[in-house]
Amino acid sequence: MKQLNYDVVVIGGGPAGMAAALKAKETGATVAIIERNDELGGILNQCIHSGFGLSYFKQELTGPEYAELFIKQVAAVDIAVYLKTMVIDLSGERQVKAMNEEGMLQIDAAAIVLAMGCRERTRGAIKIPGSRPAGVLTAGLAQRYVNIENRKPGERIVILGSGDIGLIMARRLTLEGMQVLGVYELMPYANGLYRNIKNCLDDFDIPLHLSTTVTNIIGYPHLEAIEVAKVDENFKVFEETREVIPCDTLLLSIGLIPENELSQKSGVSLNPRTNGPLVNEALETDQPGIFACGNVLHVHDLVDNVTLEAEQAGTAAAAYALQQNIEIGVSENRPTETKPSEIKTAIPLSPGENVGYTVPAKMTIPSSKEARILFRVRKPLEQAEVVIQSGATILYQGKPRAFKPSVMEEVVLNPADINGSEQPITVSVREVKK
Ligand SMILES: Cc1cc2nc3c(=O)[nH]c(=O)nc-3n(C[C@H](O)[C@H](O)[C@H](O)COP(=O)(O)OP(=O)(O)OC[C@H]3O[C@@H](n4cnc5c(N)ncnc54)[C@H](O)[C@@H]3O)c2cc1C
Repeated sequence: MKQLNYDVVVIGGGPAGMAAALKAKETGATVAIIERNDELGGILNQCIHSGFGLSYFKQELTGPEYAELFIKQVAAVDIAVYLKTMVIDLSGERQVKAMNEEGMLQIDAAAIVLAMGCRERTRGAIKIPGSRPAGVLTAGLAQRYVNIENRKPGERIVILGSGDIGLIMARRLTLEGMQVLGVYELMPYANGLYRNIKNCLDDFDIPLHLSTTVTNIIGYPHLEAIEVAKVDENFKVFEETREVIPCDTLLLSIGLIPENELSQKSGVSLNPRTNGPLVNEALETDQPGIFACGNVLHVHDLVDNVTLEAEQAGTAAAAYALQQNIEIGVSENRPTETKPSEIKTAIPLSPGENVGYTVPAKMTIPSSKEARILFRVRKPLEQAEVVIQSGATILYQGKPRAFKPSVMEEVVLNPADINGSEQPITVSVREVKK
């Protein structure tokens, strides 16, 4: 088995992995990226629509264009890139086992950045009754067929789920000459970004059916029809609304699952709300020296946020690694930025009223840097305010405005705001009367 050694090993070469690796390199570490695909870029390579980079690059790019800007930067510095290399094991001691055409690799790292992204939920996750025909596939797989492999998934398409991937595919398949009969959404509101509802459905007269779901899959060996029905607020079907829709393709856009099997092998604890690792404000998991960022940590809607988060993880991982290596005498290379926290106490951070989850899940106080808190609301709120509290003390209160679950929220706390807090911190979004 080939043995290798780096200060920082980044698992996954998507936008998160590349941004983390670049920052770690800038901080002075030796860095490797391990990617199972034959190119860097992750999911962006199949997202040929525009809408990427608006906040990070202040210009509208396609997914491959956004990825390319990072691929070029990675190529320009001394970062080792292992393509077509699959990580199959990770230990809590930060030993990576990977496999490629040449055989097995063992890579020892002083710090690890987890950047494996996420995968799509399939039919089994929501247990749709009916037969098991060809023609039922996830929206991301259909995107790969159309945009990369030049294949057509079908002719008459129904989409279940109004997340961004489903909305983007509704437009894409329409542009490719397929007939998209409608998008069906279980919730009483759309899950995707407002701009995608407008640009992908409204502009193409594709109907969006809210509080409606697929109740049966009909046909074998190929899909012939689906049955849909309206549901009440407890998702109970209104029997009289059952309707059969002839179609040959059902696309599922019903959510993403962070890919954390490797993280679990290394002993990293997961947040049951996000299925991503529990991290502190430096994005370090509960396994020392293992950091996480991007979709493996929690599902992001915008890649720009993935990049910012990954830069933070890469900087912190390099600082950890270099400090570690100085302590054990294998390096004199000092980090150009120090570890963001002088760890005193880890204070838990938890979701309060109307909030689904928070990242991080704990903060080490006092922190020498600002602490970014990311969260999502559980349901749409027309007029509400963010309130961050430590016990009864209010640390932050935002201005009243509207909130949607599809939009990730961010509050940046100043160290001065949190210094002296000892009680658990709660993030709530409270409704305010108009
Ligand atoms: C259909 C779709 C449309 C989108 N539209 C937009 C948009 O309009 N605007 C926008 O800003 N964002 C959009 N996004 C979101 C954005 O693309 C993602 O948030 C971003 O790509 C996530 O980056 P990541 O690096 O965390 O994950 P990924 O891009 O998924 O990268 C993870 C990488 O890790 C690799 N990997 C995983 N496991 C292993 C392993 N064991 N060994 C080696 N390698 C491994 C994978 O091969 C992959 O390359 C869209 C996403 C999708 C799917």
